[in-house]
Amino acid sequence: RTVYVNGVFCPEDEGKVSIFDRGFLFADAVYEVVSVLDGKLVDFAGHMARLARSLGELAMAAPTSDDELLAIHRRLIAENALEEGAVYLQVTRGPADRDFLFPPQDTKPSLVLFTQAAALRDKPAARTGIRVVTLPDLRWQRRDIKTVQLLYPSMAKTEAKRRGADDAWMVEDGCVTEGSSNNAYIVDAGGKLVTRPLSHAILPGITRIAVLRLAAESGIAIKERPFTVDEALAAKEAFISSASSFVMPVVEIDGQPIADGRPGEITRRLRAIYIEEALKTAI
Ligand code: PMP
Repeated sequence: RTVYVNGVFCPEDEGKVSIFDRGFLFADAVYEVVSVLDGKLVDFAGHMARLARSLGELAMAAPTSDDELLAIHRRLIAENALEEGAVYLQVTRGPADRDFLFPPQDTKPSLVLFTQAAALRDKPAARTGIRVVTLPDLRWQRRDIKTVQLLYPSMAKTEAKRRGADDAWMVEDGCVTEGSSNNAYIVDAGGKLVTRPLSHAILPGITRIAVLRLAAESGIAIKERPFTVDEALAAKEAFISSASSFVMPVVEIDGQPIADGRPGEITRRLRAIYIEEALKTAI
């Protein structure tokens, strides 16, 4: 694979970042993952807007313009002949002598990008649904910033696998915040789509924006409010959304089936129309 590291396109084993990089020492870094369908980027502008926001919240400089970032994404897709998968982008505050204090503004940010091939459209889990377990949300209180502090989500997903499930739904004050790397939704008894409102408690998913818009356009009623684990267990449907899973049914929570234990009607429809629109609008 060809990767991009600080201005250079090179083979993946030649890409190097300093051991003093603050991304490595302090997780002082933000990232984005843009999915690729038919060699094109899905919702690139949305991901760049969130990147700008993450950088702003941490007083980090933008590494380069969005046009340049688009050109880098496209060159990696071309060089790696990527048809389906994702482009990962990470910006760190850059290398500096180890100190908790942010270094002076002239520190050069590190910019790293690489591609990952993956089947996104045709996933067996989209037909069978995934199983989740609930775990306490032990992350920090600014989950709206897309930082690379991913240790707890990694622990949670590993614990979920250990328990025979696919992912964790994290819980705070009795309500589901989100999945380890995705936003969480249920469809209640009245057919209403329920998902947690944006706040510092969750990441503002780029896929979430599209899902809520497509649901509204399809005449599905939406209520943005926190929901409890008990509500989720009693729901008609449950699902997650993210750039890499699109819309993915959840059919079991803590070993208990949701409704009949099969992917729900609204979930399947939203997945289909999300993919249809993603294919049409990818650049
Ligand atoms: N929440 C968390 C914690 C995530 O890591 C992700 C994936 N980046 C999401 C939600 C979904 O965001 P997006 O739709 O932009 O991929």
